[in-house]
Amino acid sequence: MDLTYSRTNVFETADAEKLSKILAYAEGYKDFLNHGKTERETVEETVAMVEKEGYKPFDFSTKLQAGDKVYYNNRGKGLFLLRVGSKNLAENGIRIMVAHVDSPRLDLKQVPLYEESDIAYLKTHYYGGIKKYQWLTIPLSLHGVVVLKNGEKVKICIGEEENEPVFYISDLLPHLSQDLVKEPVATAFKAENLNVIVGSMALAGEEKKNVKKKVLAFLHEKYGMEEEDFLSSEIEVVPAYKARDVGFDRSFVASYGHDDRVCAYPEITASLHTETEQTVLTILADKEEIGSEGNSGMQCFLIQDILDKLCADLGVSSALVRSKSMCLSADVTSAFDPNFSEAFERNNVSYAGSGVAMTKFTGARGKSGSNDASAEYVGYLRKIFAEENVVWQTGELGRVDLGGGGTVAMFLANRNIDTVDVGVPVLSMHAPYELISKADLYEAYKAFSAFIK
Ligand code: MN
Ligand code: MN
Repeated sequence: MDLTYSRTNVFETADAEKLSKILAYAEGYKDFLNHGKTERETVEETVAMVEKEGYKPFDFSTKLQAGDKVYYNNRGKGLFLLRVGSKNLAENGIRIMVAHVDSPRLDLKQVPLYEESDIAYLKTHYYGGIKKYQWLTIPLSLHGVVVLKNGEKVKICIGEEENEPVFYISDLLPHLSQDLVKEPVATAFKAENLNVIVGSMALAGEEKKNVKKKVLAFLHEKYGMEEEDFLSSEIEVVPAYKARDVGFDRSFVASYGHDDRVCAYPEITASLHTETEQTVLTILADKEEIGSEGNSGMQCFLIQDILDKLCADLGVSSALVRSKSMCLSADVTSAFDPNFSEAFERNNVSYAGSGVAMTKFTGARGKSGSNDASAEYVGYLRKIFAEENVVWQTGELGRVDLGGGGTVAMFLANRNIDTVDVGVPVLSMHAPYELISKADLYEAYKAFSAFIK
């Protein structure tokens, strides 16, 4: 009898039928990525997906009952999908899955446009944890909304189609970088230098050459904007890359924003396509990358309001239902990177291709800021994953005391709901172009499906 534990490699153990399912599933995911690069776009795209499956909008004014399939669109930036099942809530609670749909990026400042030495620029304030140098010299696109003076909301999306221009942040040539390359990376690249090049043609007929006015003329023609309208805008600068297969065997997908759409997509598709009598709440959250604050983040009371409304309509105690509910906080973790092996602890990190990762605790400096899931809850999930042949692995972010990170898990757990982090391991997390294994994506789908069965 072999009493030892070891990870399972998905590709090594998959038969031909499973392999073709893994590859096919990733096609839908790439499409999802390419149509939703921001939280707003991902919510819009998901609403379209779920409406096709019969989900109806919900706004607290109607009574919920068993059999309902509804969605609550939170300001276009967050989404709650609720399937009310026939099982008794007081006994079974709710199965909750939450992923986030905001990703690290550069946001435009509110007075962003200026010109310098005949080039027009937009100033940015980065959002979430980025390595600033990674955003230089790559194709960038602009996505977001502007609320004009007259109250009209205009959508902006430019730089994604082949025939559209992209935007760009410059870097210093190596020939003149003798001083720069000796500086620590943390200080060599300054946030105030993440200025995006948007033009260089001057407006004709001006007394002085004026590049900024030419950009404004373009914005006015295309979007009806004037400069002051930037004050009431949310415009995000993201990489203009499309999701692409990586490797001779096409086993990986590279994309912007795997964190955390690589969990959102399997969560959504599992909740749409799994037959179940459970009540299932699927959440797409905003603002995770900056602490889940605000009314679109998971710290907002909205989750409580939805749970309370559901329980009131069905005549059960919300406190009782929460005590019986379970949550998968679906977020990415790190995948072991042999190029930076010293950052990881090999026995406890997750590996690309070894299945969906379960992260019992996150946090930093002695688990601070972590939801540390109980042995009992992990044991329960282990059992249902085994029953459904889900290939999974453990996933501690990295070496102890090297850094750390958090997720939304604690904001669910704080409500007396058993919660653990489950998600897909990522190489180069938070980079403009991240990498995931198609095998892990597929196992995440299977895990979420097993969870809500
Ligand atoms: Mn994340
Ligand atoms: Mn993140």
